[in-house]
Amino acid sequence: MPRLAVGSIFTECNHLGGTPLELGDFERGELTRGNALLATTHGTLGGALATFREAGATVLPTLAASTCPGGPLTAACYAALKGELLARLVDAFPVDGVLLALHGSATAENAPDLEGDLLTAVRQLVGPRIPVVATLDLHAHVTAEMVSQATALVAWETYPHRDAFGTGSRGARLLLETVAGKCRPTMALAKVPVITAALHGGTDGPGPFADVMRYAKWHESLPGVLSTSVFLVHPYLDLPGLGSGGLVVTDHDAVLARQLAGQIARLYWARRTDLEPVVHRPDEAVALGKQIDGGPVLLVETADCCGGGAAGDSVASLKALLAAGGDERAIVPVVDSEAASLCHAAGERGQVTVQLGHQVDPRWGTPLRVTGVVNHLCDGRFQYAGGIFDGQLGDMGPTAVLRVGAIDILVASRGTYDWNGEQLQRVGLDPRSVKFLVVKNPMNFNMAFRPFATGVFILDTPGPTPASVRNVDFQQLERAWYPGDVTLAWSEPTVFESAWGG
Ligand SMILES: [Zn+2]
Repeated sequence: MPRLAVGSIFTECNHLGGTPLELGDFERGELTRGNALLATTHGTLGGALATFREAGATVLPTLAASTCPGGPLTAACYAALKGELLARLVDAFPVDGVLLALHGSATAENAPDLEGDLLTAVRQLVGPRIPVVATLDLHAHVTAEMVSQATALVAWETYPHRDAFGTGSRGARLLLETVAGKCRPTMALAKVPVITAALHGGTDGPGPFADVMRYAKWHESLPGVLSTSVFLVHPYLDLPGLGSGGLVVTDHDAVLARQLAGQIARLYWARRTDLEPVVHRPDEAVALGKQIDGGPVLLVETADCCGGGAAGDSVASLKALLAAGGDERAIVPVVDSEAASLCHAAGERGQVTVQLGHQVDPRWGTPLRVTGVVNHLCDGRFQYAGGIFDGQLGDMGPTAVLRVGAIDILVASRGTYDWNGEQLQRVGLDPRSVKFLVVKNPMNFNMAFRPFATGVFILDTPGPTPASVRNVDFQQLERAWYPGDVTLAWSEPTVFESAWGG
């Protein structure tokens, strides 16, 4: 029976804003060590463990750490997580294979390419012959180092991300087959300099990304193709070589891998203009929304997305709603621990005046002074059902609902990943009952609220996760890219290939 080590360091980082991730963020999220990890039944590791168990493999757990996105990991945080994972891996020796559940767009102060750094360290420990398979988010920034150090990389197929469990299973099956000598994976990544936000990056229904994904997945039925992945790179990293495209793992056929990855990258390039969204100023969106019968009209303030690393503390939409009278029922989420604490001090039905917003990451706006009545108080803890954090606890910290005019402001102490409206449910807010609903993510609102929304406006507001990065002044990203240069001409994709394998 094969002896297979598993581990995970999983988050997504933002170079444009947010706050640095500390060990405490992982402790509040997920930080599971050793045998405790074997109880994982959900998410990527849950899928991998179930598959290993079914195959009768001996699982050697190391460390699983995940948290809501933010700024880069501090050097101390990454050193601690990496050090412990590697030490536990060595303790587990001998191993026949390693499975790592990673994101692909994490970065640390001391390791800009966190996953490349981790895979390199694991490879150095296990040597060239032991298979190392890593699962990734389809928003990964896949680097030459990751491709050369891993035996195979397998990414999620869905966005909204519903297939973490399934991807864990797929990665595990590929590892089992490789360890058993049934296949010899080799892979190629081809990417084009297309850097767009994720608003049109859904895989449900028609759409530019969905079309490229279907095209890539169709090739998995071809003989010799073990896995295909498509990447819409997380666009808020300031790193060299950012780009999007395809990755193909074949059974010992480097030419086929390179050829198919190139075809996926070509199609991706052809669809690039369809990935850029139409955006509205908040005041314009509110005025247009008022002309629509009923609600909720969704105001998508994607620039302040906690799930993309932003602080969630913008009040840009709230300002527009108040400027328009503040007399229509609305829900607006804002992260502000001091305001939440003042609400808790005032108690339910108490009246408070607070300076709200832009306190965590003050680069993107100025606080707004509001007076309102506290309608609800709670500890802000909830449980995710589905998605990448399926089964895990979300923790907003002390949380309040502050009613200002007709607007309910969900004041949380900490930012949390948006999945399916869990935060609103936790505080008893009904999104169907309002005229305007402010959402702060680029995609999952489609699943959570769009089915009953009467209108949707993508907002152009300041923040580190904007609807388009065309005006972002990247410092490290060296080459011309779309849409920074909308006239950019086609050039052959950048290709990275396996250094080991085949
Ligand atoms: Zn993602």
